[in-house]
Amino acid sequence: MNYRHAFHAGNFADVVKHATLARVLDYLKRKPAAFRVIDTHAGLGVYDLSSDEALRTGEWQGGIGRLIEAEIPENIAALLEPYFETIRDLNSDDAVAAYPGSPEIARRLTRRNDRLTLVELHPRDYEALFALYAGDRRIKAVELDGWLALGSFVPPKEKRGLVLVDPAFEETEEFATLADGLAKAHHRWPTGIYLLWYPIKDATKVRHFHEDIKASGIRRVLRAEFQVASGDKDGPLTGCGLLVVNPPYTLADELKLLLPWLQKTLATGPGAGHRLDWLVPE
Ligand code: SAM
Repeated sequence: MNYRHAFHAGNFADVVKHATLARVLDYLKRKPAAFRVIDTHAGLGVYDLSSDEALRTGEWQGGIGRLIEAEIPENIAALLEPYFETIRDLNSDDAVAAYPGSPEIARRLTRRNDRLTLVELHPRDYEALFALYAGDRRIKAVELDGWLALGSFVPPKEKRGLVLVDPAFEETEEFATLADGLAKAHHRWPTGIYLLWYPIKDATKVRHFHEDIKASGIRRVLRAEFQVASGDKDGPLTGCGLLVVNPPYTLADELKLLLPWLQKTLATGPGAGHRLDWLVPE
């Protein structure tokens, strides 16, 4: 396990993932019934953007760094508000010194009765995650393989909620594991919302992954893909994708507005683009 998210926190891929995550959580709060967030690959929870890791790559500057400098039209600002709220609440002034990971976004955008299950396998990251939320009875941090958690923690007792699956993609088989894990979890809990993140580096692997999802029989799968520039297998990450199973009915229209603006704001070169469609419709 060499992957450390501290090198990448706040980069363009985090912005796309976290802005979408915040939209889903905002939607879940429209109903009073409590819900659960299960984060199978949780990371540290909060990232220090002045850490050695963050300084070494500077990736956040091409992500959240660009967003906070941008002029944001009103309709986009309204959609980004829950995401920005979590960043504002974490930082005391206008500068962004700390960046919220998915656990912190979920913590800040959930209510008294909502619960979070955070799963992290890296011992050091787990320790930090556990310490960060030790005083919060709504949150349970678990040191476990996220793929096991995906199979065994659903359905949650609330029967409403979201499973975020955001693997490190260090293993060659991780796309197949992701498709298989989703199929098993969906079988146990077909009405849950699932948000899956994946890198776009190797087009063949991504195509096979999509074929596996289609073959699983799961319906209502929204696909959002995003490129800041064209890239290749061996170069740095320039594209990422999200699959949302059972998305809130509002999400496709929201992403239709958000993605073009994010593309304009985060693009770094030729080949920047996005796509939003139903990988599998109703
Ligand atoms: N979801 C986090 C966020 O948005 O802030 C970022 C997660 S990062 C992309 C992937 C995390 O998965 C890393 O912290 C890594 O240590 C952890 N990890 C790697 N393999 C794992 C496994 N099998 N089970 C659980 N966590 C794992």
